[in-house]
Amino acid sequence: MMNQLHIDGSIQRLRFKRFALAAGTYMLLIALVWVTYCAGYYYTNFFGLWLTTVLVLLSQGVLSLVFFGEHNKRFKDPSLTEFQVLLGLGWQTFVLAHLESARGIFMVLYVLVLLFGLFHLPPKVFTRCAGLALLGFTGLNLWDAFEDQLADPGLAALQTCALFIVLGWLCLYARFVQSSRQRMHQHRITLQAHQETLRGMMFQLEELASTDELTNLYNRRHFLRLATRELETMDGSYTEGLALIDMDHFKRVNDLLGHAAGDRVLQVFAATATECLRSDDILARYGGEEFVLLIPRCTRSQLIDCCERVRLAFEQVTIPELPGLALSLSVGMTLIERGDDMDRALQRADLALYRAKHHGRNCCHGAWDYADA
Ligand code: GH3
Ligand code: MG
Ligand code: MG
Repeated sequence: MMNQLHIDGSIQRLRFKRFALAAGTYMLLIALVWVTYCAGYYYTNFFGLWLTTVLVLLSQGVLSLVFFGEHNKRFKDPSLTEFQVLLGLGWQTFVLAHLESARGIFMVLYVLVLLFGLFHLPPKVFTRCAGLALLGFTGLNLWDAFEDQLADPGLAALQTCALFIVLGWLCLYARFVQSSRQRMHQHRITLQAHQETLRGMMFQLEELASTDELTNLYNRRHFLRLATRELETMDGSYTEGLALIDMDHFKRVNDLLGHAAGDRVLQVFAATATECLRSDDILARYGGEEFVLLIPRCTRSQLIDCCERVRLAFEQVTIPELPGLALSLSVGMTLIERGDDMDRALQRADLALYRAKHHGRNCCHGAWDYADA
């Protein structure tokens, strides 16, 4: 969204610059008319000169309103560029009509005006504008010839040919520019598509790298990353609960019912425990048949309640394809305070788990019960 705004902003700035450049050039043309008039190069109707000057200024003012006004989004940039170019060509022809001998030199300004449309006008429109420029210049010479005012017809013919060649070349170049732009546009679209695919693959990779395949819980590495981040952002106003959960006599399940049954039990545990927890509790497979749980903003009694809830739920679970299988788990709990070390907290929970196993399993023990934990 921010990016789009940024792009829109720079496009608007570019349009403004181009418009200002075109308008500036037309002002220069008017200045040229006035300077040549005041220097006495030609005689023309003074009132007419003023009127046309005012018309140019007015047209630029109206155009700028149309171009940048809030309610004029429907005006497309290229059509306005065409209008600007046509206006410039008209003015150029008007100036040339009064320059007589200097016509050959100022003819170059046709190219300058057309350059405004080189990058933005479709090749057909550009060719049409170039054709009109040639028509204007040729028309001037023909009119002068008709009025018997053409000083050097040979030179005029030469100038017309030169203009024809330059404009022809410009039209070819405009075509080349447009096709290059289209190619670049295509490349950009392809690149964007590749970027999207890469983003999707990155997301899948991140998922794969952080998830345990069997239970769909976070894996140990990702748990440690999340837990460390949680610890770093902790302030001193609360504690967090950490629990290590271990299946009781899990080896027997494997030995008696097979490895696939053991896998199924692990999956059932993951589903059962997830149902007992809130969405911001972090449960992960720590390794083998051992799981780890981090409960943010949690007191001792909340931690005990939560672990008991998981233990009881798992104890009552029945698996249809493994009827009569008695399941239980043992839990070692500890509280984490601000500034605590994750490894030390895990050691405390592990020791409490060890004690829970020694107390006959299927129970939850807190590290706070032991002075040495
Ligand atoms: P305790 O009550 O003391 O914890 O006894 P236990 O049998 O649960 O513990 P022990 O460490 O002796 O055995 C754990 C077993 O878990 C051994 C291992 O084969 C099994 N195990 C580890 N990972 C997996 C797994 O992904 N799938 C299955 N099916 N079994 C696993
Ligand atoms: Mg075990
Ligand atoms: Mg174990």
